[in-house]
Amino acid sequence: MDKRRILILGGTTEARDLAGRLAGRPDLAVTLSLAGRTVDPAPQPVPVRMGGFGGVPGLAAYLDEHAIELVIDATHPFARQISANARVASAAAGIPLLRLERRGWEEMEGDRWIRRTSIEEAVTALGAQPRRVFLAIGRQEARAFDAAPQHHYLVRSVDPVDPPMEAPSVEYLLARGPFAVEAEVDLLRQQRIDVIVSKNSGGDATYGKIVAARILGLNVILVERAASESGHHAETVEDAVRLTDHLLASFRKRGV
Ligand code: NAP
Repeated sequence: MDKRRILILGGTTEARDLAGRLAGRPDLAVTLSLAGRTVDPAPQPVPVRMGGFGGVPGLAAYLDEHAIELVIDATHPFARQISANARVASAAAGIPLLRLERRGWEEMEGDRWIRRTSIEEAVTALGAQPRRVFLAIGRQEARAFDAAPQHHYLVRSVDPVDPPMEAPSVEYLLARGPFAVEAEVDLLRQQRIDVIVSKNSGGDATYGKIVAARILGLNVILVERAASESGHHAETVEDAVRLTDHLLASFRKRGV
């Protein structure tokens, strides 16, 4: 029996977990795609291809060349470009697309969230008064905060911010989650942080800072996600495995 070929667009814990769940299946050939942003990515349970495809045409060509029958977009909730490309390219290739996106965090009693819809709005929400800010949004958008140089920034990311920020008072912390609540409380206290900026990424690995802010009574400027698009959706790896079987059973690419 020919193996059914699946492309997982990854860069998240969920993508790795899903790949792990599908890896041992004799009926499937799974490839995981990473953007190549992280210098030393975590080991993965299936074959990996690395780097951008070259926009929609490149991705559509890849799907065709590799006779992919299902794309699973398990990229980060804030990786919007690749998700948009996946929608267009899978439609052009005439194959199904499954979006695996973990739920966002929900506000609880004691949280002091200031919700915003973009990084630019988050910059403005810091206000005019100088604050000590914990920037936990990843390295790619940190430089947007150069627009508010009156604040002190503690920037945490997996890889260095390169080129570095231009704001005059910045400290960098290189670290990869998961982050425990107690350690986050200690960090926020030691650094005398006034306010945290975070994306509403969801998941457990980076939730520690949100709990720590609740404990310390700190404001969190939370950048919310865009509304999800219609189509096949899974919120958990479990659901994604179930939907993968369902979609493959109800679809077979012509000529495969
Ligand atoms: P993005 O803005 O949506 O994508 C920019 C370009 O990077 C895409 O057009 C594509 O290049 C390439 N790309 C992105 N993800 C890819 C993948 N899985 N495989 C192959 N190419 C990919 O994405 P981003 O926000 O820069 O995120 C990059 C990666 O980091 C993603 O894998 C994402 O899951 C992960 N990540 C992002 C965040 C975040 O906050 N944005 C947080 C944690 C992890 P081409 O157009 O050339 O194909």
